[in-house]
Amino acid sequence: QPNYKHLVVGTDVSIPIINGKYTKEINFDNAATTPPLTSVMNAINDFAPWYSSIHRGTGYKSHLSSEIYDATRKTVSHFVNMDNDYSTIIFVKNTTDAINKVSTKLSQTISNGVILSSFMEHHSNDLPWRKNFQIDYINVNDKGNLSIKDCEQKLKKYNGRIRLVTISGASNVTGYKTDIHDFAKLAHKYGAKILIDGAQLIPHSPIDMKPDYSSEHIDYLAFSGHKIYAPFGTGVLIGPKNVFKHGNPTQSGGGTVKIVTPNYVMWDDIPYKEEAGTPNIMGIVALNAALKTLNEIGMDNIEKMEINLTEYTLSRLNRIKDVVIYGNGKDCSNRIGIITFNIKGLHHSIVANILSKETGISVRSGCFCAQPYIQKLLHLKKTDIDIHKNNPNSPHPGMVRVSFGLYNDYSEVDTFIDILNKIVNNKSYYIRKYSSKDFEI
Ligand code: PMP
Repeated sequence: QPNYKHLVVGTDVSIPIINGKYTKEINFDNAATTPPLTSVMNAINDFAPWYSSIHRGTGYKSHLSSEIYDATRKTVSHFVNMDNDYSTIIFVKNTTDAINKVSTKLSQTISNGVILSSFMEHHSNDLPWRKNFQIDYINVNDKGNLSIKDCEQKLKKYNGRIRLVTISGASNVTGYKTDIHDFAKLAHKYGAKILIDGAQLIPHSPIDMKPDYSSEHIDYLAFSGHKIYAPFGTGVLIGPKNVFKHGNPTQSGGGTVKIVTPNYVMWDDIPYKEEAGTPNIMGIVALNAALKTLNEIGMDNIEKMEINLTEYTLSRLNRIKDVVIYGNGKDCSNRIGIITFNIKGLHHSIVANILSKETGISVRSGCFCAQPYIQKLLHLKKTDIDIHKNNPNSPHPGMVRVSFGLYNDYSEVDTFIDILNKIVNNKSYYIRKYSSKDFEI
């Protein structure tokens, strides 16, 4: 099994845990954000003396910065195998920003259209559509897998009104990996476009957007730099040139125009027209370095390594009594390295807190910004949801999530399994300890 720990910053820092002790952090919260690669930090440091505001300055540094900024589009294009004739790359803040941009842009031209999202989505691929469109959702089965049959039924039912199918490439809750090309084919068959929320897919699995003429082509792709080993603040939106070329940009201001008079505006060419204001040049330098390093390692290798680790974890987790695993159980065939579970009789936030305080394991617990999906996976009834609605500060239903990055290893999983065994075998002790003043849900 390859070990990529040395490629990542901060994997050897010690953090405080219970009883005044310190331990090395075990970060199993990579679905929230990934730590930066060493190559990324080096690229930032190397570029720091040379950076300047892009596209407007005439100075040497400004030219250099502009060059790197635009060259990063080539790196992105190569990384996702984009069709350069059909698509444009717009740099944004993050996935949320990207999806909001598409929603606003499409609302300029689509009237009486329906957006087909799914019950598996992160709120960022649901709420931005609600404000501008009628929306419907593809159903999920008991395991939380997207139903392609239901997708087709909905496409038929709306009789051509569905203009976009917008789904995650991989779920941030169950790790379920969508057959994006099958969904693309189906959407196109019914005259709709497809958007893939790639926030979780892109850092953990190879992706191929395929050429425009292919029926399996991905029309829109969104992802975040901070989930792909670069720092916060940069994201990528890829979409059809002909959509963004026409009409007004979603945001206007500096950098978006060619000519302005008091009563006339000529917008700049794409993608500049859609990148209002001074861009995050250092963030883009970082993103460039991250994608190049991942490409050198090979996304196939990363995926294989993370899935092996996931398989190992699941096989051990399955043997612990009272552990309930959500999603596809032990099956790793359509999956990225995410596992969500609960321990019967313990609130998820207590489990997460014990992991952190006893052994320095960072996980995420709760609803992971995907409340409708959690409601389905937990089979919550309307009355359960109403109770929570009436008392939003009451303990949330939810789960514990473990999400791997390329630098996690087997010994970390062993530590995790050991503490879980201890928790399960000493439930009442831990409930007492972590429900006391030490800890509030
Ligand atoms: N979609 C998915 C599937 C995600 O996991 C996330 C982040 N958890 C987002 C969208 C939103 O990403 P960001 O916060 O970087 O905009």
